[in-house]
Amino acid sequence: MPSTTSAPGAASGTSGSPAALRSANQARVVGLLREGAATWSQADLARAAGLAPATVSTIVRDLAEHGLVDVEPGRGRRGAVVRLAPAAGAVLGIDVGHRHVSVAVGDLRGEVVRELRRPIVGGEDHRQVLALVRAMTTELEADAPGAPPLRAAALGLPAPVAHDVVDSDVIFPGWHGVDARAAAEAALDVPVVVENDANLGALAEHLQGAAQGTGSSVFIKTSSGVGAGIVIGGEVFHGAGGTAGEIGHLTLDEQGPVCRCGKRGCLEALTSVLFVQQQVAGQIPEAPAAADVDEVVAAAREGNVAARRALEEAGMQLGRGMASLVNLLNPELISVGGDMARAGELLLEPARLGLRRYALDSVAATPVVAGRLGSRASVMGAVLLAARGTEVGLP
Ligand SMILES: [Zn+2]
Repeated sequence: MPSTTSAPGAASGTSGSPAALRSANQARVVGLLREGAATWSQADLARAAGLAPATVSTIVRDLAEHGLVDVEPGRGRRGAVVRLAPAAGAVLGIDVGHRHVSVAVGDLRGEVVRELRRPIVGGEDHRQVLALVRAMTTELEADAPGAPPLRAAALGLPAPVAHDVVDSDVIFPGWHGVDARAAAEAALDVPVVVENDANLGALAEHLQGAAQGTGSSVFIKTSSGVGAGIVIGGEVFHGAGGTAGEIGHLTLDEQGPVCRCGKRGCLEALTSVLFVQQQVAGQIPEAPAAADVDEVVAAAREGNVAARRALEEAGMQLGRGMASLVNLLNPELISVGGDMARAGELLLEPARLGLRRYALDSVAATPVVAGRLGSRASVMGAVLLAARGTEVGLP
């Protein structure tokens, strides 16, 4: 459509030129192939894109010629099944924790194709961790010769991340002050985005897990640290500097135990794995030294009073933090992940009680559910984020 005939208020200049229109239509089709169903008939694609079937046929043919989509013949051309081609490109998702590193290769729809998880001792500096990530990536690539080249990566870190830099010298010291993006790009040789791990978990639970279909959701990751990711309208809410959602450092008790952030009585200090371990110290005969989460949960299920009580206490405090969150944000749903989530209802039931007790009545019944993606949430979110940031289109 020539720009001179554009409706009042339509963009002027070249945006209405035939070339611009073609590329806008193509972007619409590619967008559906990436974020909608995995496979489409051409007829459905045309309907969903609001384009003429003939226009979609032309776009699909052009994309197929460039290897960006695969077309399987069906009944007639418009019945053919279209999907984004694996050869369109691959991305890398990385989740670095205090005790593990996960690396996954995904397609441009954000689906994980292959992944590896390795334990680390903790306290490694960023160079050592990135060398491990590099080695794991090489291993994943060697497993699939002929796979498309990596086009981008996303790196999740368990700390507040502002403008690609870990913004705390105590929470994640091996990375403090490091430009994580520059360091990862140098190690991996692809463009990298850096994100907080709870934000990645939130994105994954929102798009592929427990919060699928909601307009807004919050994901709380509770492991050795506690953080929240907030998703509104399909996008992670970052705040001004990028560190929104640090629920772990809400002050719940001024006289409470010292938190690793240096303050006292933070939510994290009253609900994390460490808190629970301290509460049950010496109380679980099967684990006389330091019990891990699974040992505490097993003991609680067998009726160990100290273990039950510790999980209940942690859950109540978590619920209190949730109350502040729902009062402020009124999300449709809260999902809970991280190591502590393995306690299931032993943690979630008291959390709902805490939420009811401290939240405004109108939001006190906000659903609180276990995350569906388990320990994979953050690495899946990293793959999704890397895929979302990668352009697919004709040259
Ligand atoms: Zn704190």
